[in-house]
Amino acid sequence: VNVPERIDYVFKVVVIGDSAVGKTQILSRFAKNEFCFDSKSTIGVEFQTRTVTIGGKLIKAQIWDTAGQERYRAVTSAYYRGALGAMVVYDITKRQTFDHVARWIEELRAHADTSIVIMLIGNKGDLVEKRAVRTEYAVEFAEEQGLFFSETSALSGENVESAFFKLLQHIHFVV
Ligand code: GDP
Ligand code: MG
Repeated sequence: VNVPERIDYVFKVVVIGDSAVGKTQILSRFAKNEFCFDSKSTIGVEFQTRTVTIGGKLIKAQIWDTAGQERYRAVTSAYYRGALGAMVVYDITKRQTFDHVARWIEELRAHADTSIVIMLIGNKGDLVEKRAVRTEYAVEFAEEQGLFFSETSALSGENVESAFFKLLQHIHFVV
């Protein structure tokens, strides 16, 4: 029997950041609790959804994936349209991906709504021995820019759930 879901809100969230930082895997971890070791072969889907309860409301999180457009810096403005939240992801083992975060924030400022809630994510937290970006450094940057911040591991799943909940809760709080 198909019981129709009673959804109170749909929140569009976009995930951006350099190629190979783990955007697609973070999304799969949150939406399906899956991690795919060979994600290169996965064909980009536009978005994945997961329904969560926040403050007694059923919220469908519609999380958009760039599907590789970021490789050519060709993320279209349509991608950002209507987004209430954004996750800007870097790889804690690749300094350059952190240096590019400012560019991604500029993209958001240019194309997304001014009230968009932004969370900075340092992913691949499981690769501590290869760390190239200090946590304190990222925390400071996030504070300056007015962003939420979390370090995650899509591989182990650490903090992925809590990061999404923090973002969704804040969106719920401001809408
Ligand atoms: P995207 O281009 O940003 O979507 O990155 P993907 O999600 O395709 O991941 C790029 C590569 O990093 C893949 O080989 C993943 O298996 C790997 N990866 C993603 N997240 C993690 C993580 O949290 N830890 C580790 N060790 N590897 C990860
Ligand atoms: Mg991807």
